[in-house]
Amino acid sequence: MKALTFRGKENIQLEEIRDPAIIHPSDAIVKVKACAICGSDLHVYHERERGIDPGTAMGHEFTGEVVEVGKEVRQIRVGQKVMSPFTTSCGQCFYCRQGLTCRCIHSQLFGWVERGQGLHGGQSEYVRVPLADSTLVEIPEGISTEEALLLGDVLSTGYFCALQAEVKPSGVYAVVGCGPVGLMAVVAARYLGASKVYAIDTVAERLAKAKEFGAIPADATVGNPMEEILEATEGRGADGTLEAVGSGSAVKLAFDLVRPGGIVSSVGVCNDPHVAFSPVEAYNKNLTYRIGRCPARFLMDKLIPLVKGRQYDLASIFTHRMKLSEGRAGYEIFAGKKDHCLKVLLEP
Ligand code: NAD
Ligand code: ZN
Repeated sequence: MKALTFRGKENIQLEEIRDPAIIHPSDAIVKVKACAICGSDLHVYHERERGIDPGTAMGHEFTGEVVEVGKEVRQIRVGQKVMSPFTTSCGQCFYCRQGLTCRCIHSQLFGWVERGQGLHGGQSEYVRVPLADSTLVEIPEGISTEEALLLGDVLSTGYFCALQAEVKPSGVYAVVGCGPVGLMAVVAARYLGASKVYAIDTVAERLAKAKEFGAIPADATVGNPMEEILEATEGRGADGTLEAVGSGSAVKLAFDLVRPGGIVSSVGVCNDPHVAFSPVEAYNKNLTYRIGRCPARFLMDKLIPLVKGRQYDLASIFTHRMKLSEGRAGYEIFAGKKDHCLKVLLEP
């Protein structure tokens, strides 16, 4: 089959690799209908995150049709249209039982093969899904392919970010970064009732989209978001900040913008060796700092009412639809924020 593989820094290739096969009786094979490129793929692409073997099929955002199931698979059936969270989970371990499916003891991340171990990704024609019954979700009636892709990662992650920030209608919040995850964090904060959500970025069209989703855009290259937020909070700072970038400077900004006793909720993957603020700085703010991977499998079906409410045109963040065979260019456009790109959907 054809897949987009990692071949080194900023080098994605369309390659012919071996078709996936059932390895364990709880596996399923999904024929990919659509997949997407995520900001997390960019960490691999730019080699900010190391470890993945050259030749690994990239990607963890995919939807498709089940074409084969192992002997132990009971719920998922051949022919079903399914969406998938970006990690697998067993649904039964200590972590799964409390909704932390991203820390399932059997969890694997799609698109991560390291020293021969791990899972190939969904930017391919077919993908092997371990623990299929507890990982895959049938796409409900009325949910589009684009929406199913968002549920599997960035919408769930934006929502997780807002939950961790304990968003309340009365509070003032700042979302740092208006990529797909930050935009979904804006949607989630608004959905949870927040009336004042500032959205910070430097890219005009991303700020415009944040505004469309109900945020107050703050262009970090033009004004000073800090002044605006202090003014809106009698000089205190935001009740919560939602960091969706994955860099030390963004975490520092999220820290600076939050008030004493507030919450910094971080979903950005930052590969710096240390946190961007010191213990005593956190002490002096009585800070709550929450960070981590989103338990997408736990959250995705809970977000179906949000999607079906159609208050937000979520699918509109897909600015580019391309063939899988054009994936290399897709990466260049998304990584370079070229051509007003916000998110790329690829079809095998
Ligand atoms: P993206 O790269 O498309 O978006 C990042 C945005 O941040 C861009 O719009 C950029 O202009 C903006 N930005 C950069 N530096 C900034 C700064 N200092 N202040 C304000 N804005 C700044 O990525 P994405 O797909 O939206 O993903 C965002 C992050 O979330 C990535 O680090 C990704 O790895 C991470 N992620 C985490 C999880 C999780 O489970 N925690 C899941 C998905 C993605
Ligand atoms: Zn992702």
